[in-house]
Amino acid sequence: MPEYQVIARRFRPQQFSQVLGQEAIVVTLKNAIKRDRLATAYLFCGSRGTGKTTLARVFAKALNCAHPTEEGEPCNQCPSCKEISQGISLDVLEIDGASHRGIDDVRQINETVGYAASSGKYKIYIIDEVHMLTKEAFNALLKTLEEPPPKVKFFFATTEPHKVIPTILSRCQRFNLNRISSDTIAQKLAKICKELSISIDPEALMVIAKRAEGGLRDAESILDQIIAFHEGAITATAASDILGIMPREVLFTLDKAGKMGDYGVVFTVSEQLFNQGKDFIHFVEMFIEHIRTILMIKLGAALPASLTAQQTEKETYRAAAELYSIEQCMTILDILVEGLTTLRFAPSPRFALESLMLKVLRTHHRIPIDVLVKRLAELETRSNGAVAPSTRPVEQPKEQPLPPPPPPKPETVKPEPVKLKSISAEALPQHRYDTLLQFAAVELEGTVQIKKINRQPLPST
Ligand SMILES: [Zn+2]
Repeated sequence: MPEYQVIARRFRPQQFSQVLGQEAIVVTLKNAIKRDRLATAYLFCGSRGTGKTTLARVFAKALNCAHPTEEGEPCNQCPSCKEISQGISLDVLEIDGASHRGIDDVRQINETVGYAASSGKYKIYIIDEVHMLTKEAFNALLKTLEEPPPKVKFFFATTEPHKVIPTILSRCQRFNLNRISSDTIAQKLAKICKELSISIDPEALMVIAKRAEGGLRDAESILDQIIAFHEGAITATAASDILGIMPREVLFTLDKAGKMGDYGVVFTVSEQLFNQGKDFIHFVEMFIEHIRTILMIKLGAALPASLTAQQTEKETYRAAAELYSIEQCMTILDILVEGLTTLRFAPSPRFALESLMLKVLRTHHRIPIDVLVKRLAELETRSNGAVAPSTRPVEQPKEQPLPPPPPPKPETVKPEPVKLKSISAEALPQHRYDTLLQFAAVELEGTVQIKKINRQPLPST
């Protein structure tokens, strides 16, 4: 039985066309080779798992390949290509900047740069995590970069370009690698699973892709982990369980609970999250994405491909969108984004999370300020004797069709004729009158009663 190779290594791109999500950089590098306009040093920046060293390695291969294709791709057949793929090439040296960060390590590089490449092409140094080099090491390296011997190239990779000293930066051609989109990652994972004959749901692929946050290598490691843990077909629930993520259905349950005023669900959800050791921060991030998707539906914005591909999920989202108004979605996004920061530093994250969820659910029963102002204005008109318009019911915003907000408590909104008369339009300039109404509206917001409570069971995880 052949030795098991982790997915990230087994499916590492061997040519430019296999590098995902970095199209512009690939085109630039290929053109540089074609037109023979090569810089001495290149710096590849980007978050982890976006393909910095992979890209550097493919570039090195293409430069030293004996038979590159017309598109500038390495052949992957010649001795040079094969040696680089196996990491045994004498001309392409990979150095880990984190463990070889001292001046002696750079001195060793400086001593060998003078020797010509055995293939007769380029001598290439790939230094990973270059920002870890010490100041002395950087300075020693700088000397070589200032007067590079012919046919020597440096490819640097870093997650933290701001830690690389400016004199080095100014001698490099710099490329910023994008985070890879969840859809692209999911597609690649699907291909890998097909090749490995592993049965996995598209939703499960999306769960992994989203968790990886734009890093393909992270996604591949997660897939490795799930395959090792799980027997049989991999579902979204199984993937969520292994990763400690709450399944998405919980969010739809919260939507409905909010609409029905069933605030008790908050404690059930928090209990589940807590008992199963789920990541609170990740849960809130999922919540944000959930509301964001709903807002996108309400605004008629183009939905992410991952959602449009799944008809049932799209329908579920459309139904959920009926429960919210645009204004409300925006308010909730504000609450959640702010809550995320609070949660990170909260001494009791569980209580902070509960308070956050309650705040979100309460938005369902708040009357928008503009509606309240309108009501107050009508009451004022009525108290002044102008009866006709006041009998008209208050108009609701169009995007909030069901159910109409419960009528305000009589004792809260009931006008006191004497007071209202004293702030009538004649007595006060218009702008002061408006301000007073706004104040009243703010005071009254949130005091509306919730009509009925109808508990629904949570989906089991
Ligand atoms: Zn080759």
